[in-house]
Amino acid sequence: MPQYVALSEKTFYVKGSPATLIHVVDDEAFIVDPGSGSKRRKTLRSILRSLKVSDYSIIVTHYHADHIGIVSKLNASKVYASELDSVFVEHSVLRNYATYGYQISGESKYLLYSAPDTKVTDILKPPCRIGDDIEILYLPGHTLGQIGVLLPDGVFYIADAAFGDRVLSAVGIPYHFDAILALETTEKLINEQDMYEKIIFSHGPLLDKKDSLNVLELNRKRIADVISKVRKTLGNEPMSVGEITARILREYGVDQTVTLQMLASITIRSILAHLSSEGYAEAVVSEKGVLWRKK
Ligand SMILES: [Zn+2]
Repeated sequence: MPQYVALSEKTFYVKGSPATLIHVVDDEAFIVDPGSGSKRRKTLRSILRSLKVSDYSIIVTHYHADHIGIVSKLNASKVYASELDSVFVEHSVLRNYATYGYQISGESKYLLYSAPDTKVTDILKPPCRIGDDIEILYLPGHTLGQIGVLLPDGVFYIADAAFGDRVLSAVGIPYHFDAILALETTEKLINEQDMYEKIIFSHGPLLDKKDSLNVLELNRKRIADVISKVRKTLGNEPMSVGEITARILREYGVDQTVTLQMLASITIRSILAHLSSEGYAEAVVSEKGVLWRKK
């Protein structure tokens, strides 16, 4: 099995979850989201050797542990991350708090992945460029400062702005730190489809443009559906974030675990915050803690 797929003369796709892109400019490589695990590290090192690059930098699209696990071990000359996300790349406690809602540090059975504190050397303020031809754009929602990497050959790495259909079915409620922003980002990606030739999802198959647009549409619909389910679930009977989350996950028919409920409740909290500022929902105090109801 070849270790990578050449998407153009300069851009190479390494399968995985997350998928990794390697873009070569002269004898320098840019690695987008290297991933995690020692096997991944070996694979990437061997690909870099075969591409005969003398120097490489890493671009981190957002702070999630599965995307950055091996960054600190790759000894890249530079590590790029967005201004908004870099503090969470550098501090794992803040990262886990933002991701799961708990100040968990180190290894924990509740975390899907863990990654050490990871040094960022270069802060990106999108929209901006790295060198002459790598374009960096904000794709907020999944995290507040998530970026997309648009390469000169039209390959656009959109990270976790959208997920493959299998991932979407498995999780029911896709993880977005801010679901409203994530919805706007998917709409923008669909509306501005002329700006790229090919989009790459971190978690999902390598697709042609037509199929990937269908996946974007699937993600747009799912986020909109989750928002409408939260609206419908809110009634006169006040409910906790946990109850609302579990009920909607049940409606999607997914296997619920502690980790999935933790992650999904972050998406739900963001929707409740939005509905509250719209005047649609309100929080009330109760013996079970804070509960939510329709206003
Ligand atoms: Zn992510």
